[in-house]
Amino acid sequence: MLTSVIGYPRIGALRELKFASEKYFKNEIDEKELASVAKSLRSAHLQSQKKAGIDLITSNDFSYYDILLDTAVLCGIVPKRYKELGLSDIDTYFAMARGYQGEKGDVKALAMKKWFNTNYHYIVPELDDDIKISLSGTKIFDEFIEAKNEGVETKPVVVGPYTLLSLCRYTGSKTREDRADEIIEVYSGIIEKLKGSGAKWIQFDEPSLVRDLSTEDKEFFKQLYKSILAVKGNVKILLQTYFGDVRDIYEELTSLEFDGIGLDFVEGKKTLELVEKYGFPGDKLLFAGLVNGKNIWRNNYEKTLSILDGLKKKGINTVLSTSCSLLHVPYTLEGEDKLSEEYKKHFAYAVEKLEELKELALLADTADRNSSEAFKKNEALFAEGRDCADVSVQERLKQIKESDYVRLPVRSEREKIQKTALGLPVFPTTTIGSFPQTKDVKKNRSAFRKGEISEEQYKEFNREKIKAVIEWQESIGLDVLVHGEYERNDMVEYFGESLSGFLFTEKAWVQSYGTRCVKPPVVWGDVSRKKPITVEWSVYSQSLTKLPVKGMLTGPVTILNWSFPREDISTEESMRQIALAIRDEVLDLEANGIKIIQIDEAALREKLPLRRSDWYSEYLDFAIPAFRLVHSGVKAETQIHTHMCYSEFTDIIPAIDDMDADVITFEASRSDLLILDTLKECNFETEVGPGVYDIHSPRIPSVDEIVTALEKMRGKIEDQKLWVNPDCGLKTRGEEETRQSLINLVEAARIIRKEA
Ligand code: GLN
Ligand code: ZN
Repeated sequence: MLTSVIGYPRIGALRELKFASEKYFKNEIDEKELASVAKSLRSAHLQSQKKAGIDLITSNDFSYYDILLDTAVLCGIVPKRYKELGLSDIDTYFAMARGYQGEKGDVKALAMKKWFNTNYHYIVPELDDDIKISLSGTKIFDEFIEAKNEGVETKPVVVGPYTLLSLCRYTGSKTREDRADEIIEVYSGIIEKLKGSGAKWIQFDEPSLVRDLSTEDKEFFKQLYKSILAVKGNVKILLQTYFGDVRDIYEELTSLEFDGIGLDFVEGKKTLELVEKYGFPGDKLLFAGLVNGKNIWRNNYEKTLSILDGLKKKGINTVLSTSCSLLHVPYTLEGEDKLSEEYKKHFAYAVEKLEELKELALLADTADRNSSEAFKKNEALFAEGRDCADVSVQERLKQIKESDYVRLPVRSEREKIQKTALGLPVFPTTTIGSFPQTKDVKKNRSAFRKGEISEEQYKEFNREKIKAVIEWQESIGLDVLVHGEYERNDMVEYFGESLSGFLFTEKAWVQSYGTRCVKPPVVWGDVSRKKPITVEWSVYSQSLTKLPVKGMLTGPVTILNWSFPREDISTEESMRQIALAIRDEVLDLEANGIKIIQIDEAALREKLPLRRSDWYSEYLDFAIPAFRLVHSGVKAETQIHTHMCYSEFTDIIPAIDDMDADVITFEASRSDLLILDTLKECNFETEVGPGVYDIHSPRIPSVDEIVTALEKMRGKIEDQKLWVNPDCGLKTRGEEETRQSLINLVEAARIIRKEA
């Protein structure tokens, strides 16, 4: 059986590409040097796959920033304002990705969005009517030849025309459909050119096919590919899908002239059912995505082989593949020196997944599996199980009653009680939690981690910082204060470290966007709180002032969504365990005199299923109750806040209201405040703090500007329910701009109070 990889991590085992790019941005190295780092990474990645014996290795999966942006450039989708800067090709590319500010002009970056249900972000290509789509780039051809010169025969990959056009932002009057002829010409051109260079396979990635598709969508897809496939001649075309199943278009897909179709058997709940029900054409290859490209657990060989055996029995010609690009997992376990073998043997990062592919493919062709060392080893691994159970956690979970998900009295009652208990003015002012993480703060933390200073010294420094920030917030007149989060590196890692059941890696970096990588913790076992996490800091902060200081926590949905989840228990169960652990913290904070507690759910929307029909049954029906479980035990007068880093929840507003928080703050400053109309239409009950200024930019908002934003909000939200705050935490901002921005924010609130 042949093996195929959909895409490989590109950032480098030690994040070489990140560091080289950052140097390039700072003008510390030139384009040539950056290109040479990139080339050696590409070469190492090809060789690693070749060495593992992978048959169909991908090229053009490398990217300096983002693969969709690469595809846009390939198709000439470059807005005029970037071209007009007159920069080199690479700098024009980076200007689109990151914005440009310099002697040649001042242009903002293109928008960035989450790539399907992952934490990877893509750059949203922008199409205005002036742009003529045409074959403009050469990267895909160059990288194919480069690999060939290195002795590796590759299948070049490119995001397919349907997904590309579906993800573009249309700023003119032309629609996706209006672009059909141009895009057909470009993709036909790509095929012709690669054919000319000797490519045997070309991979078109079409993940948009796993979403709900309308009749128009399907027609459009067919229209594109019927024409494009007409030029293929003897080059083989692989239509690759991932992140779900293709239930809306399976029959059409299998009847088009593709030579291979890649289906996701890991996240595609209905993939197997589709193949069984409709069969699979004998003249095509099925690329079966059975090695998980998104998680780090070892593959269960027995399970995978039983699926492969089933396909074989049906006479289907199968190629074994990853379920999606390996971009979403870290590079290699080699170098994870601090994790003991006990743990590591259960994991497979990208390099180890190659081995799995190879072993599985060999086993698929072998009748006598029991004599295979690889098979026996894998069988033993799963038979022995893992030391990860905690009976008391499981018992506690069983004891949860329906009433534990319900906070009483109802919100409208609580609202009155809290108004009296807290005595806040109308339009209360607050911030989202963190204050600038200045160099001294980071230095203090790292010195403590390295053992250069004692715990007491570390804490003393933070206490000083907290004292100063509390005094300062009080002096400018904020109403609800925060302690600044100086003790936190990351909003998930910080909590994970104090919860049992979590594991941390040293080098398991995964690209999030451009040069930004994250290192998600691993949920290893049953989760519980080892000891109070934030209580000491919160109690200290509250002791410094009579004004309320918010307790600051990360919610269970976000903690789980930003970790590598378990595969042996359901997401629902894991989430509930984490909810109970955070619930303990909430109750402890309350018992220690904290009157307002914020539970951040920055990542709630991220794992919303790609199909609307699954939104509730597969996710919201347990994620929202998990959040309620965290806070349902507090007294009526304790005010629960939550925060989300986006405002695109127009279509799940009832679910957000159902979290039953008392106050929600969210990003709104960059959107057109459309969300406010919908809040009104839905009779949203939660009090709201739509961010009045954008913290992602160093710009200081003027008092007038904030007043104007607030006036608009007042048209849609009752005065009694409106809060005044920035749109996210301030940790990435400088101190000076933060100071001035918040002074203006408080002043704006004072002005509108006079009018109210
Ligand atoms: N409380 C966190 C902070 O202020 C929230 C961060 C986030 O929303 N991503 O930094
Ligand atoms: Zn945020």
